[in-house]
Amino acid sequence: MSTVQLTLKDQSTARFPSGISLLEVLQKVDPDSAGDVVAARIDDQITDLSRTVDRDARVNFLTFADKEGKKVYWHSSAHIMAQAVKELFPSARLGIGPAIDNGFYYDFDVPETFSPEDLEAIEGRMNEIIRKDLPLIRQELDLKEARTLFQEMGETYKLELLDELENQQVSVYGQDGFKDLCRGPHVPSTGRIGFVKLLGVAGAYWHGDERNAVLQRIYGIAFPREAELKEHLQRLEEAKKRDHRKLGRQLDLFSFHTEAPGFPFWHDRGLLIYDQCVQYWKKLHRREGYRLVRTPMMLCDDLWRCSGHWDNYREAMYCTVIDDVGYAIKPMNCPGGLLIYKNNMWSYRDFPLKMGELGMVHRHEKHGVLHGLFRVRQFTQDDAHIFCLPEQVEDEVIGVIDLALEIYNAFGFKDVYVELSTRPAKSIGSDELWGRAEETLRRALKKKEIAYELNPGEGAFYGPKIDFHIEDSLFRRWQCGTIQVDFSMPERFELEYVGSDGEKHRPVMIHRALYGSLERFIGIVIEHYGGDLPLWLAPVQMRVIPVSRDHLDYAEQTTNRLTDAGIRAELDRRDEKMGYKIRDAETTKIPYMVVVGSREETEGTVSLRQRHGQQQGGLQIEDVIGRIQDEIDRKAL
Ligand SMILES: [Zn+2]
Ligand SMILES: [Zn+2]
Repeated sequence: MSTVQLTLKDQSTARFPSGISLLEVLQKVDPDSAGDVVAARIDDQITDLSRTVDRDARVNFLTFADKEGKKVYWHSSAHIMAQAVKELFPSARLGIGPAIDNGFYYDFDVPETFSPEDLEAIEGRMNEIIRKDLPLIRQELDLKEARTLFQEMGETYKLELLDELENQQVSVYGQDGFKDLCRGPHVPSTGRIGFVKLLGVAGAYWHGDERNAVLQRIYGIAFPREAELKEHLQRLEEAKKRDHRKLGRQLDLFSFHTEAPGFPFWHDRGLLIYDQCVQYWKKLHRREGYRLVRTPMMLCDDLWRCSGHWDNYREAMYCTVIDDVGYAIKPMNCPGGLLIYKNNMWSYRDFPLKMGELGMVHRHEKHGVLHGLFRVRQFTQDDAHIFCLPEQVEDEVIGVIDLALEIYNAFGFKDVYVELSTRPAKSIGSDELWGRAEETLRRALKKKEIAYELNPGEGAFYGPKIDFHIEDSLFRRWQCGTIQVDFSMPERFELEYVGSDGEKHRPVMIHRALYGSLERFIGIVIEHYGGDLPLWLAPVQMRVIPVSRDHLDYAEQTTNRLTDAGIRAELDRRDEKMGYKIRDAETTKIPYMVVVGSREETEGTVSLRQRHGQQQGGLQIEDVIGRIQDEIDRKAL
């Protein structure tokens, strides 16, 4: 009998009869944890445990603790939800039901919106399906068979999906009478799912397109253990309270209007936060030797053709015509920056040449995906391009890593997770070029002793990249920064420099952004702090509160002293009770209150009260100013 050699996660190897299923392998090598395993990775492919192996391979069993394991777990939960909905609402037609970063959803076409009672009933039915421990069975069909199947089931949306497919062979997963068009993989049986909770329902256009029908999207979450589910639900509650859209309204930071959906309107207080981020960014980049530039908002179509955006990104671009020439509003800053580069003939002595731009870009996001500052149509990217020699790449990447970590720390993000993405199937450039660039990025991370997750095949088509994910106070991770090596743009734009040999060469180009989108980053910062921004970012840093009308003059002098020292202070002139004014300053999330009454006026002192803290009396104003300025300089470090 022929055998296969499998290399397991711990690098041990073992031989098995060819044709053995992964589930059987698992029961042989690790029977104790078999119940926790949801799927497997065989070489680089995630697959069902029912799959058989007929060649030598690396096998890694995945549990809920793995990122890919979670995806399989949640996607399987979505199937269970769809089965429950079909059983309770037989006329419902199925849209799509993927796993998302935090849970899963499924879209349903139903005549009426699901009520909270409906959700409860669906959840109850899901628990029954889980208890029955039904096997999820994969079936391979050709397109025609699949069409017949979904036609009989009346699943018109699935038929549309089939029309969009190019492959001739599709897979269908089923449990009980339920069947779904799906690539998989899935958990072996419904009993693998532990504790589920449906979180809510929202309208969602089919394919995210507002010209299409509105489907009902049910969101859910599932965990292997009940305690994990409870903790997650508590965090969701907290996240709701911290929703930046809500805080943005409450604290008068920004607004959105139907006159320009997805385009943020910054109010005075929001713009103060925004400006702090900008000033800080500019200061650090000047210090690091970046040249800061600004390029036009609109550039002619020829440029976008040259950059490749016209062919690959046109759907998301806003276009217009000036003097009979087509123009587009920039969706990215790079092409404009390259025109500045090409304005000079650079020498290798000028390298590394670092050019930064806080560039406002516009991208047509579909209406349905717009979400506060997190998903907008207009935002500012903190873009920069580094042009250098191949042997300078490593040092430059290290420099950017240092800068990224310094910035995230200043905003109070101590936990940063790094991912390295390598060559995708569709890509340009030679193997040698890719190999060298990937190795350089690896070496840079190693030198900085940064642990990273590898995403094989997830790089951009034009080069490998490093991504930074910051973790907020609710343990949510947000991808913000990125460092990307680009083999494409220098070619497309025929960039050159004069080398030490006097000949012309192509420079290496690195794109990097650290905030990513400034708007989104501010949204993340607001939620991270629940609106209680650190002193350096707070739009109003101090509010001066006179105990009564009699102390208004002294309060005014005090306010002037603070503002003269560059502190953003304001005076509460209202004729209200002390308690009310203090509470109001707290709900407005002002970091410090300066309280002045008779005693302070006679002594020439002030009382300082920290947000959510104690009051300290008899302080000299100079001391207060010194203390505050120290804290501002420390940022959130
Ligand atoms: Zn599926
Ligand atoms: Zn760029």
